[in-house]
Formats: sequence, structure tokens, C-alpha cells
Amino acid sequence: RKAKKGKGQPESDLRTPIVCVMGHVDHGKTTLLDKIRGTTIADGEAGAITQHIGATEIPLAVITEVCGPLFRGDFQIPGLLFIDTPGHHSFTSLRSRGGSLADLAVLIVDVNEGFQPQTIESINILKRYRTPFVVAANKIDRISGWLPVEGAPLAATLKAQSERVRGDLDNRIYELVGELYKQGFNSDRYDRISDFTKNIGVVPISSISGEGVADLLMVLLGLAQKFLKENLKVRASGPGVGTILEVKEERGLGTTLDVILYDGEFRSGDTIVVGTLKEPIVTKIRALLKPRPLSEIRSEERFLPVKHVAAASGVKVSAPKIESALAGSTIRVVSEDEDVDAVAQEIRSELETARIDTENVGVIIKTDTIGSLEALVGELESKEIPIHAADVGPITRRDVIRAAAIQDPLYSAVLGFNVKILPDALTEVQKSDVPIFLSEVIYNLLENYDDWVEDQKMRMEQERLQAVIRPGMIRIIPDYVFRQSKPAVVGVQVVGGQITNGVTLMREDGAVIGTVKGVQASGENVGSASVGKEVAVSIDGPTVGRQIHEGEILYVNIPEKHVKIIEAELKQRFSEDELEALEKFLEIKRAKDPFWGR
Ligand code: GDP
Repeated sequence: RKAKKGKGQPESDLRTPIVCVMGHVDHGKTTLLDKIRGTTIADGEAGAITQHIGATEIPLAVITEVCGPLFRGDFQIPGLLFIDTPGHHSFTSLRSRGGSLADLAVLIVDVNEGFQPQTIESINILKRYRTPFVVAANKIDRISGWLPVEGAPLAATLKAQSERVRGDLDNRIYELVGELYKQGFNSDRYDRISDFTKNIGVVPISSISGEGVADLLMVLLGLAQKFLKENLKVRASGPGVGTILEVKEERGLGTTLDVILYDGEFRSGDTIVVGTLKEPIVTKIRALLKPRPLSEIRSEERFLPVKHVAAASGVKVSAPKIESALAGSTIRVVSEDEDVDAVAQEIRSELETARIDTENVGVIIKTDTIGSLEALVGELESKEIPIHAADVGPITRRDVIRAAAIQDPLYSAVLGFNVKILPDALTEVQKSDVPIFLSEVIYNLLENYDDWVEDQKMRMEQERLQAVIRPGMIRIIPDYVFRQSKPAVVGVQVVGGQITNGVTLMREDGAVIGTVKGVQASGENVGSASVGKEVAVSIDGPTVGRQIHEGEILYVNIPEKHVKIIEAELKQRFSEDELEALEKFLEIKRAKDPFWGR
């Protein structure tokens, strides 16, 4: 049983490739999708585009029409299915067995802005899933002096531009080529590439004027034909398999699932298994719904029931008991000769494999779909941030408690991607001080976490800096002996580092001679004094003229444990004179024991 072919479509067993548009915010994803729909509606008299649920199908005949003389080659695919919601959120939701369901991607980059954080994030996701992509260098009409030629293919519009404008465009393209190279890809303007398996094509376009959009469609067709022949084989028979893009309430219908069916067929009445956070649901398809064509404006109903759909297709599924269905998980038909439990086990194990191996010490992550979980785990792994627990769903009290129990203060945190915090989790946060990071952009999530880690490190260093005894070197000023002993009170000059109440003092020969009991300046207790200052110190222990002498240098006696901490992590925070005092002190200590403090 082959997928039903539309009018004017070639007879082949390749299904429609699924295409996602990715890129940084405001670089033109939505405008491009609108343009593709608009252009093809206006020009596509040979066969109208088909509106799916969550996707738009552009049949090959329409692309032929739009591309005109550009169209070359012999294509067996029936067209292209564009996912209507751009961005990596929908890309990662479109997931099947750990791979991506999007067969191809358009990475859109504003030529005037170049690569931005989400451009790189998109590339990382495309790399991880090994998804072939083309780069759309958008907003060429914004290049100064550009003369827009509405809807023209690239070659035609380039002819209309001045030498200078063409040069300007080339420079911008080469900047993108340079950025792509940094990400590990060879690339060039698409019409200068002969082998698309070795190079990424860059297509200059304007999503507003439509220039270059025909070229983009051509390159996508070419990529699909070259890369995807095996992936696109539609199974001749067999149960339908799809991915849930969204779980949606619809008036009059209750909970429905917006599904991209990528293999086989759905029929109303089919028994289906649907993935959830816990046990998969077994139910029956009550109705299959497609968007009502725009021409039928008289109807109140937005959806048109259909008896059957074939891959690839976007369809709304209505069924009982599907409230707990999980976006990003699988929906699969169970055929008569299959065991329902075996299919349910297959779907259950998908979530289990997504719940990665976790470490004893690490952050807690929660995301909205299995796909986004994989994406976030991938990003954290590439940054070598350990994960203690990873799951789909809102942030719960248990997540906060688990994070609070993590011993390493740099990992005691919860990262939530596109999820809510449950009220009792919030109460727990107030009790435990565990930070929660929330964002709808992976990049922002990681950046906020990184900033916090830096702050934490700084604070911990500060705390330790305050806890360690810091180096100091003083000279007893001749003729400033105020008291001989019990305690000895002498005027000193701080030669390096600082002198603080409570430290013990060591002589040049290594003998510890007493404890500082007070530091005074102009008759006031100051507690400590730093390099350059002249102060009076009282020292419990020695007698002036016996254990200590006028003009002598004394050192702050730093405990061995503190020296180890200083040398391991605090040294870079010390000033020149502190370092010098430390060095002199260690020289004395290590003259007797070369391994002291190491
Ligand atoms: P998205 O966030 O990536 O979906 O970006 P949008 O499609 O919403 O576009 C962001 C803004 O850029 C909008 O104001 C668009 O009108 C504008 N824009 C998008 N593409 C083009 C283009 O090719 N040329 C010009 N001049 N503006 C564009």
C-alpha cells in the first residue's frame, strides 16, 4: 500500500522530506516561511500547496513553477514539507529514536548581523543530529544601494545590482563562510559549489522581496535527492508512526495531538500507543483532522475530518484519554498482528534512553520534551558540566531537594528549559537557596548558569581569602620600644603584606617568638595594618633585647595548611609585596625542610 500521490506528483516511493527553519531570533525565520507559502500560493497554479496541521507542503509541481528556468534535474520526491513553527524547539520535538525527524534544515542568518548565539546553537543541534542543511543569507535587500527585483532568482537580481553592491554582498558571504569554517564546515555561495556533499551551500535571499527564494527551494530539493534517498523510502505497508509536536485543547474536541506522521498511515479507528512521562497510553483514533481549505470560508469549523492520512503529513489526532500525552514522544499504530504490550514497551524505552546516565555530583535538568532534553544534555556534555538528574516535566519540590543535597556548591542548581516551577517547589527554593535557572533558549540558560558559577567561585575564593592567614613582614623601628615585655610593645614598619591581631611571629632564623595582641595607630586600636604603614604592636611572649631586637625583621607565621591553599588557588589574588613576603617566609621554612608546605 503506497502513499497516495497527489495530482502532478511523480510516481515514486520517496516520501516528502520534512524541512525545519532554524536561526537566531529576528533573522527572518517566520518571514521566510510566510514568503515560501505566499510565493507558492501566488505562483503555484500547476498544483496548490497543501496546508497541514503544523506544516505546509509544497508539491514538486509548484516548485517547478516557482523556479522556472532555474529548475534542472530529475527529482523523484513529491515535494517539501515545511514545519510551520520555526526554531530549535520544534526541531528537537521532531524526534524519532534519538535522531531528528527533520530531514533537512534551512539555517537562516541575517547577512547584516552575521552569526549570533542562536545561530551557533542551531548549528550544534544540526551537527548532533547530522542533519543536512543549507544556509539562507537573509535580508540582502538591506545592503546599502540594493535594488530589489521582486521574486527574482539570484542570478537575475545580481545582474541588476552595481559592482559595488555585488562586492559588498560577496564580503558578507565570505564572513559567513569564515564563521562556518570555525564550526567545522566548508561552504561557499551555492552557485560556486559542485559537490554539495562536501560543502554547505550559502544562498543569498530576501524574505521580504522573495529574491533568491526559488534558488533556496532548488538547493533544498537537490539536498533531499542527494542525501535522503534511503531515509525517505515510505514503507509499502505497515502501521503509522509519528511524532507529537503539540498537545492542544480544542473547543468541541477536547485534548488533541498535533502529529507529524513520518511513516506509514493513520486511519480513524486504528489502535494507537502514545508516549507520556510515565506509562504509554493505549487508545483508539476517534478522528483525524486536517485544516479546512481557505476557500471554504463559510464553514464555522476550522478542521476537516478525514478517514486516512499517509506519510509525510501533519495531522490533528482526536482520541480519548490522551490528556497526559507528551510532546516530542511517539504515536504509533498497532496493527492486528502486533502485540500491544510490545509496542508500549518500545515507546516506554524511548524516554528511558533519553534519561541519560547521570553522575553522583551534577546539576538537575528539566525540559518540556524528550528532544529538548537530548539537546540540553548534549550542550552540557560538550561543556563538561556533569548532570545528576535529567527528566521531562515541570520543576518539582523533589528536584529542589535533590539539588540542595548536592555537595559541590557549583552544581547545586536546577536548570529548566521551557518548563514551569510547581508551587511547592518554590516554597522549597525559599528554604534551601538552590538557584533555579529558567529559559526558553538553551544558550541563555547556559550563560546564566555560567555567570552564577563564576560568581560562586569568586565568593568562595573571597571566603577562603578571609579565612587564610596572609603573609606579612615587619621591621622593628629602632628607638621605638615602648615596653620591654609582658607584652612587648614596639613601633614597627610593615615592609610587605600585612600584620593582623592574633597572628604569631617568626624570626629570620625560623624561631617563633610570640603572638600579636594588638595593632595601634595614633593611639587607636586598628586591628591590622598593611604594607607601608607604621604602627605600634604588642607582642605576647618575647622580651626586647633578648628574643627580639630593634631593627630586626619579623614574619607572620603562616600555618602549613594555609600555605597549601594559598599556593593552590589564592596566589593569583596576592599583590607583589604579599608575594614577596610569602617567598621570604617560605625560604626560611624550606631551608630546614625543602618539602614544607608542598
Ligand atoms: P524570526 O524571529 O527569525 O522569525 O524573524 P522574523 O521573521 O519575525 O523577522 C524579524 C524582522 O526582520 C521582521 O521585522 C521582518 O519584517 C524583518 N525581515 C525578515 N526578513 C527580512 C528581509 O529579508 N529583509 C528585510 N528588510 N527585513 C526582513
